[in-house]
Amino acid sequence: MVTKLKILGSGKEVGRAAIVVEYNGRGVMLDYGVNFDENDNPVMPLSYPPNRLDALVLSHVHLDHIGAAPLLYSSVAPRAFSTRLTRYLSRLMLEDFLKLSGYYLDFEINEVNTLLSHIEDISHGSKVRVGEFEIEFFHNGHIPGSVATKVSTPEGSILYTSDINTIDTKLVTGARLDGVEAETLIIESTYGNADHPSRENVEKRFIDSVKETLSMGGTVLVPVFSVGRGQEVMAILEENEISPVYVDGMVRSATEIMLENSEFLRDPSILRRARENQIFLSNWQDRRSAWKKGGVIVSSSGMLKGGPSRYFLRKIHDNPRNAVFLVSYQGRGTPGRMLIEKGMFEEGGPQIKARLEWMDFSSHAGRSGLVEVLKSVRGVERVVLVHGEESVQKEFAEMVKENLGIEPLIPTTGEVIDLKVP
Ligand SMILES: [Zn+2]
Ligand SMILES: [Zn+2]
Repeated sequence: MVTKLKILGSGKEVGRAAIVVEYNGRGVMLDYGVNFDENDNPVMPLSYPPNRLDALVLSHVHLDHIGAAPLLYSSVAPRAFSTRLTRYLSRLMLEDFLKLSGYYLDFEINEVNTLLSHIEDISHGSKVRVGEFEIEFFHNGHIPGSVATKVSTPEGSILYTSDINTIDTKLVTGARLDGVEAETLIIESTYGNADHPSRENVEKRFIDSVKETLSMGGTVLVPVFSVGRGQEVMAILEENEISPVYVDGMVRSATEIMLENSEFLRDPSILRRARENQIFLSNWQDRRSAWKKGGVIVSSSGMLKGGPSRYFLRKIHDNPRNAVFLVSYQGRGTPGRMLIEKGMFEEGGPQIKARLEWMDFSSHAGRSGLVEVLKSVRGVERVVLVHGEESVQKEFAEMVKENLGIEPLIPTTGEVIDLKVP
């Protein structure tokens, strides 16, 4: 018997996380997410027979980790595990995904419902046995409800960081993997080649820029992801007593769900205050008066692909007193990326006149953070890099060698890794 890793996605790419740990012909699937191509069509992970799965683990709610999971629930229904918050937020994300991309998807609401009804809630520190596997969950600091996962077979253990962050943010404290033991470490590498500027400086620059724009009577648009970045930005604005702040798009319902499950938040009181003091927009009349009156608008979607953030951008872009602050990763081919690269949000469209800035509020560890993770896990004999662009991974590989004396594997999607100890 040999334990194997099957890389079904996230090989030399950011996103589309999908990895199977296989032992004795049975598997545990770690995430089953999607990516998007340059035309914004979903790209699925490689397929795997669901009847061979003993379990599916959803590490967190971002679509690049859960978007394809309902596909595994059309004929059979393997056991599934996530935190309760991830389970609640998954309904929101998957229903929205069906609404926007349903035409391209091989599943419908039935499969989403079957998946969600099979999820068993776990929390940091809990341990479950399924078949010959033992699965344990740890705090990984990425977003509220996210986990790192350790899978043990009779031959050894594998720790999968998923998207991980080591610094404290307003929403969650940094990862806690100190002393966790695993022979194989599967680690993300999104920002493996550089450090982020300090969070303190980024926050200061953000708040200063917001204040400047407001003092000139302008409107600030902050396009955000619905889960994580949206609430982080709300909390920062609240702490700095910025007013008025308007909140729109799916970030509203995600915030309500988080507040109903506030034990997943580091300090729920800031977000609760933000919810009380900030204005949740719900109709077009309010939206119109929001961008006309001036203030800060926090709205999904984060890459300006859809949602009210696109509407607000159209309304405010041609006035130099206004500002657009991008605070999230902008995927290739998205209007947000085009905005950064060309100053326009549609091909052949107008150059925007509003002040435009990109600010690095990442919820992924930078290079030093990832090295910290490498050093905190005990007994590592093998390192596998996933969820990163190849050039970044090659640079990070040098750090792995320097710090652990191990040449990491950088698998391509489709690759199978044999974990037999030589
Ligand atoms: Zn991810
Ligand atoms: Zn993520």
